[in-house]
Formats: sequence, structure tokens, C-alpha cells
Amino acid sequence: MVKGNISVSTENIFPIIKKFLYSDQEIFLRELVSNAVDATTKLQLLAKRGEAQGEIGATNIEVSINKEAKTLTISDKGIGLTADEAKRYLSEVAFSSASEFMEKYKEGAIIGHFGLGFYSAFMVSKLVEVVSKSYKNEPAVRWTCDGTTEYTIEEATKTERGTDIILHIADDELEYLEEYKINGLLEKYCKFLPVEIKFGSHTEKVDGKNVELDNIINNPFPAWKKSPSELTDDNYKDFYREMYPLSTTPLFWIHLNIDYPFNLTGILYFPKISTAIEAQKNKVQLYSNQVFVTDDVKEILPEFLTLLHGVIDSPDIPLNVSRSYLQSDREVKKITTYITKKVADKLQEIYRKDREEYQAKWNDISVFVKYGMFTDDKFDERAKEFALLKNVDNQYFTLEEYANKIKDTQTDKKNRLVYIYTNSPLAHNTQILAAKARGLDVLEMDTMIDNHFMQHLEYKGGEMTFVRVDSETADNLVEKDEKRVSVMSEAEQKTVKETFETFIKDERGTQVEVQPLSADDQPVQITRNEFMRRMNEMRQFQQMDFGAMPESSTVVVNSNHPLVADKLLKISDLDIRNDFAKYLYDLARVSQGTLKGADLTAFVNRSLAFVK
Ligand code: ADP
Repeated sequence: MVKGNISVSTENIFPIIKKFLYSDQEIFLRELVSNAVDATTKLQLLAKRGEAQGEIGATNIEVSINKEAKTLTISDKGIGLTADEAKRYLSEVAFSSASEFMEKYKEGAIIGHFGLGFYSAFMVSKLVEVVSKSYKNEPAVRWTCDGTTEYTIEEATKTERGTDIILHIADDELEYLEEYKINGLLEKYCKFLPVEIKFGSHTEKVDGKNVELDNIINNPFPAWKKSPSELTDDNYKDFYREMYPLSTTPLFWIHLNIDYPFNLTGILYFPKISTAIEAQKNKVQLYSNQVFVTDDVKEILPEFLTLLHGVIDSPDIPLNVSRSYLQSDREVKKITTYITKKVADKLQEIYRKDREEYQAKWNDISVFVKYGMFTDDKFDERAKEFALLKNVDNQYFTLEEYANKIKDTQTDKKNRLVYIYTNSPLAHNTQILAAKARGLDVLEMDTMIDNHFMQHLEYKGGEMTFVRVDSETADNLVEKDEKRVSVMSEAEQKTVKETFETFIKDERGTQVEVQPLSADDQPVQITRNEFMRRMNEMRQFQQMDFGAMPESSTVVVNSNHPLVADKLLKISDLDIRNDFAKYLYDLARVSQGTLKGADLTAFVNRSLAFVK
């Protein structure tokens, strides 16, 4: 046996590896199994070129646990190592690449902790033993290292070509001898590696006999590596199910396949999501040559694309650099631009080919498209063509179509287009009907993301504004020069205003206005100023506390309504008049659903007294 020293120019890296990567030490299995895959594909390549002698036979990889010996072994039938190579590659190359990794790692987290390589074995082992026989006609070799800078190397008796990496699991890491644990890790990191991987076995009845069958844990030919022409819709759906067993069938998908100016394959699925709350990030998985890297792809995909599901696989994404560097990397930017363009192409294609189908899917994709529009300029440019607005009558319009539709009826005196919307057709039923009676159109904007989307359109769209249907009386939603005249005199209007103020003055942020509306409108309405309401909502959203802002609203009394103009004014007893006014006000609150608690009980009791 020969002892050697790993040439150490820096401090001892083993404790550092262990400490730094503690939270992600499980990546050791990926690193070792992908080394085994590399060794195997190299052999297959040599065989193809006629450089490996004879038949190469089976080339699968096997992972096995020996609980008694406390070892976890990764065996391959790849090119193997000669004694010289073991010395060079394991003691020198692997060591220096691990040191390099740790240097970079200190500068900033590396995505998926990718590229630590062979030395990741020491995160979980007290001793690592490598037994290998090269495809070259040379004796087998045993290399060992116990996590210090010393290693041993000697001849071994292995007769089959390939390498066994035998990890003598450290006493505080014994969970890596549990089958469920290793199974889980293989599932996570090795599920689509291109060489068959065996882990354990199971018995199955074949022709009435119990047969022992290998557990193959991976699918070496995943759909994204195939050509789109080979795949049917069902193949795509099956693959989706393979990746996300619990999700519902996706709406559609995009097969990414490019090899110049960079290499990238993958499939992105549009999941069925109808609300922003359901939208889950971290579903897109990043692979590098079928090796799982991470499902946290925010440095690689624009944020709105992280709402998609699926796989991107690109050996051209530099993974052993820090995350912060990745974002500014030019290659990555090109890749991001390419993917964004592909996604926009797909949406545009469906929109142009079959508008009906596109509309049917709109509820599910709108969150995604809207999010993309206000977070990504390039996507916004493209999506202007196929972003839709839906009105309360379930009609869909593109932005341009809608602007044309409301141009004549909803341009205000300042020449702005007024987009009227509701976030709840149920709650705003009265106001919607009043708006429609005036020939106004009301949009449905009811997802969490719509507030941002409307702001974005206002910001980009020039002379236009969004107002909620309850922000003004129907007459004033679109402000015009001409006003209705009131049947009441100024003095009478003042009396009405004061009557309402007797009980409203105590409520903070609420003011009374007497306005000449249509006699068909409600006698009393409560409006909420658009600007103030949005400010409040933003505060709540950002959970900022600048001291409680009162919910600002206006009680609009309709001076042309007979109950106000005739009845109310004619009641001479002040108490009875106030009481009657209060009743009209409560009715308005009932219609808004804001009358609650003791006030509601009092209102119901009064109504009961009426009908008795
Ligand atoms: P990398 O794989 O990035 O080169 P590693 O530290 O993982 O770095 O491995 C260092 C070297 O050790 C590899 O380049 C390879 O030559 C050799 N090696 C590691 N595992 C195996 C294996 N299972 N079979 C043959 N050679 C291996």
C-alpha cells in the first residue's frame, strides 16, 4: 500500500465543505451518481468509436446499502480508473475542483450547489473507498481517504470493469443508510438521468411464479429529450403526470428545443390555475444534461414564467457561479429572452388560430399573462395583442377592441377613456344595473392581480383611467359637462343635507352630498372614491400602518327621488324626518352589504314594525 498526500495549498477543505453545505449535503448522491453516468457514457462513446475492446455488456448503475457494514455504494460499469488515474483524478483534479468550488461558494451561493463533485462524498462519510478497474488492460485499484489530506492507494482484486464508490457513512449521518431516504434522493435528483439506475428489487408474479425484479428508479429517455414530432398529446400529458402526479391536466405546453446559439431543451406546461393564490412558484425544474439541479429558477426565468410547470435543461447555463452573477450573465439573458419569446409565440398562436378556444382558457391563463405584462417589458409588448378584458356579460375583448367599443360612450370631459369595472358583480349588482341602464359597459376585474394590471394599463395606456362601479353615482362615472337639474331649491337641498348629517357626522371619513340624479336611481347611494380606496387597499396589501385611514365614502342623496323631494321634505316633525332619512341610509347600506351588527338588528326590527 502506498500512502500519499493531497497537495494542499489552502487550509483543509473537508470541514469547510461539511459546514458550508450542511443544509444541502444530500447533493452528494447526485454528484456521485452523475459521475457514474459520465463514466458510463464515456465508455459507450469509446465503444462506438471502436476504442474499447470487445463487448461492453450491460452498463447500468447500481446504488446499494449495506446496513451491517454501514456503507452506501454507487457502482458503475463505466470506463473505470487505473492506479495512475485514481491518483491524478481523485487526489488532484477532484480535489482542486472541490477547492475551487468552495472558493466560489464563499462568494455567493451556487445554484443547486452544482459542481462540488467527488469530494461531496465527505459530507456524509468518515471514509471513502474507491475500487475501480479501468477498461484499459491494467490491474484494479483501491483508493481510500478518511477526510484528511492523506490517502492510500493499492492494487485490488476487482475483475469487472467499472467503479465502486463505497461510502462508509459517518456516525452522525446514519439516515443515509435508510432505504426510504436514498429512494427519495434518487427520485429527486436522478429521476431522468440517461443511464439506467437500479436500487433494490421487488417481487412480482410473472406467469404464476414469484420473480425478483430490479427497481429501476429513473426514466433515461424523458419526453423533453425527444423530438416534438415523436410525441403525441397524450405523451406530453403522461410526462406531466410523471412530474406532477397530483396536478390536474395542463392547458397546453411548449416544447423548447434549440441548439444554437445555445443548447436548451425542455417542456413548459401551462397549469390550470384560476386564481393568483393557487399559482405556485418553484414548479419549473432546472436540469443540466438530465441531472436535476434545482426547482428554484428565479435567476434564470423571468418571475412570471416561474408560474409555469415543467423542465428546462441546458448545459449552457453556468451553474457553478454565484446566483447573483447568474442574473447578469449574458448567456442567461439570451436564454431568458428566448423562453419569453417562445411563450409569447405560443399564446399568440392559440389566440390567432382559435379565438374561441383561447377565450375558454382565458380564466386560467389570465393571471399569468397579466403578471407577465406588468413585470416584463418584452412580454408586455407581445401580449398587448392577446391580453383580454372580460365584461360582466361574459364578452371578451382585446385591449384595442375594448377601447373602440367604449370610445363614444365612455370618454369623459377631459377626453379620457373611462374603464368601469367591478371586483364583485354580486356586491355591485345595483350599481352595475344603473351603469348599464345608461349604456355604460362594466368590466370584471376580480383577481388579486387585477389591481396591478389596471395600474399598469393606466400607466402605459395614456389617456385612460379605471374606476370601480361604486366609486361614483352612475351619472358621474364618466364625467360630462352637462348636469341634471334638481327639482329642489338650494334651501331645500341644504335642509336635506343637514338632515342626513345629523346621524352621519359622527362617522369618520364619510360625507354627505345632495345630487340631482335620475328619479329612477336609488334615493341614497354610498360611493367610495376610487383614489382613496386604492390607497387604502395598497396599504393593506403592503401591510403598512400609517395609522388607521378611515374608509372614505360619500353618502349621495338623490334630490330628484320622490321619497326625498316629496316625502322627506314634507315631514315637519324633526325626529320623524331624521328617522326617515336614517331608514333610507340604512337601505343603501343593506344594498351594499355593509349594514351589520346592532345597526342591522335595529333596521330589521323597524322594518318588521312597518309591515305589522
Ligand atoms: P468532475 O466530474 O467535475 O470532473 P469530480 O470531482 O466529480 O469532478 O471528479 C473528478 C474526476 O474523477 C472525474 O473527472 C473523473 O475523471 C474521475 N471520476 C470520478 N468518479 C468516477 C467514476 N465513477 N468513474 C470513473 N472516473 C471517475
